[in-house]
Amino acid sequence: MQKLYTGRYVNLQALAQEINSILLQEGWESTVQPMMIGNPQYQDYMIRGLKKGHFHHAEELIVRVTGSPSEFRIIIEEEHIGPLGRELINRRLLKQIEKEINDGLFDLPMQQPTMQPINQQITPTVPSQQPIAPQAPQQIRCPQCGYLNPPGAKFCINCGARLA
Ligand SMILES: [Zn+2]
Repeated sequence: MQKLYTGRYVNLQALAQEINSILLQEGWESTVQPMMIGNPQYQDYMIRGLKKGHFHHAEELIVRVTGSPSEFRIIIEEEHIGPLGRELINRRLLKQIEKEINDGLFDLPMQQPTMQPINQQITPTVPSQQPIAPQAPQQIRCPQCGYLNPPGAKFCINCGARLA
């Protein structure tokens, strides 16, 4: 059986390690092994668990975590599994893992594939023409004495001459 997960951005290696550690906690001998290396968009981890039975037969459980951080499958390839192994799969590997995925436990730092690379987001802005501010009303220079009178003045503050 398998289940497809989408909509998060998950560290598949951490997820595989968590499945492995659950098996270990449940008394299985378990190892996790990367099947694909070096391609972040397609990863494949195999977790192989083995449990010695009472009657010299071993239960074996193989779980694959495969896909990309945003779309991946948990595939349970089971072999020689008894009621306890079945219970383990249903209760922990499915319910607990699914809850932890949905809780964001394995989420990678925000790095959505749709986001622009950061260095494109901080390109310096092209110097643009500032919008031309409305000109402040001009001071009025007195024709007699040259004094700069405030805008709108009718007579020079300094000498009293009429301003044009
Ligand atoms: Zn004046």
